[in-house]
Amino acid sequence: MKEKEFIHLCQPDSCKSCGACCGLYNYADSRRESLLLRLRRRTELFRNTVKGKGDLAAFSDMIRKAESQDKLYEVIYCCEYLGFLDNEEKRVGCLLHPLQNDGVDLRDVSFYGRELCDGHFCPSYHHLSREEKQSLINIIDDWYLYGLCVTDIDIVKEYFRFISEGICEVPDPERLCEGKLREIALAFFSLKVSWPFRSPESNRFGKYYFDGSQYMISHIDYDSLGAERSRYDKIFLSLSSRFTSLEELKEAEDTIQRNIDEFISCYCEKC
Ligand code: SF4
Ligand code: SF4
Repeated sequence: MKEKEFIHLCQPDSCKSCGACCGLYNYADSRRESLLLRLRRRTELFRNTVKGKGDLAAFSDMIRKAESQDKLYEVIYCCEYLGFLDNEEKRVGCLLHPLQNDGVDLRDVSFYGRELCDGHFCPSYHHLSREEKQSLINIIDDWYLYGLCVTDIDIVKEYFRFISEGICEVPDPERLCEGKLREIALAFFSLKVSWPFRSPESNRFGKYYFDGSQYMISHIDYDSLGAERSRYDKIFLSLSSRFTSLEELKEAEDTIQRNIDEFISCYCEKC
């Protein structure tokens, strides 16, 4: 039997990639436009000043002086060697990687060391199914959104669980490459950046918050809203939600439900 091809979540294709475990989203200001400028500047500096290993200390020093070092979580490392791998700025990745340096691997100067940088596979590799991985890759072609979603196991699994229940099968990733279905699914995952009920707390990342010493899950207080735990609770947590009234909670549920219903009817009608 032919072995199934390994799905590389970090660098799946030429349209996007992920840099989450290199600390990409751990800057206090992790808005898309801020990260874009940060990655652009350091990539230019790297290309202009690093000709070999001996130039890396000066590069690191310049980056640390030039960039804000304010982080979301102090204990998570933000690596200065993360940049853009292509001129089109579609793929984020390691500037020290041998493919970026004429075959020379410079990663042994990194905080984690070459072996860890080379061999790290985040939990999404293990917990997302093959179909979930491929679907996500087919739906999202944007490094910023892709990295946020591929590392959020709950939101991916929950969305496809509701969809699968509605269509009585696992959605075929091939049908998510283009067209209306892809648009609907992309609208759902784009809520990661446009969710109107996102908590204003700055120490939140997805369902987690950091109290200065440890990560904790920021649960939604349904009792205070006079409501039962929502069927979309896990999705709401992934979206860092905070609701101030029952009306807000209902509106949020309707938003998710509408998207799922739309996907299901489009899938069944083969639109
Ligand atoms: S968070 Fe996961 S998918 Fe993203 S770069 Fe790291 S190992 Fe790859
Ligand atoms: S050196 Fe390691 S942590 Fe830094 S960007 Fe490269 S892979 Fe990521």
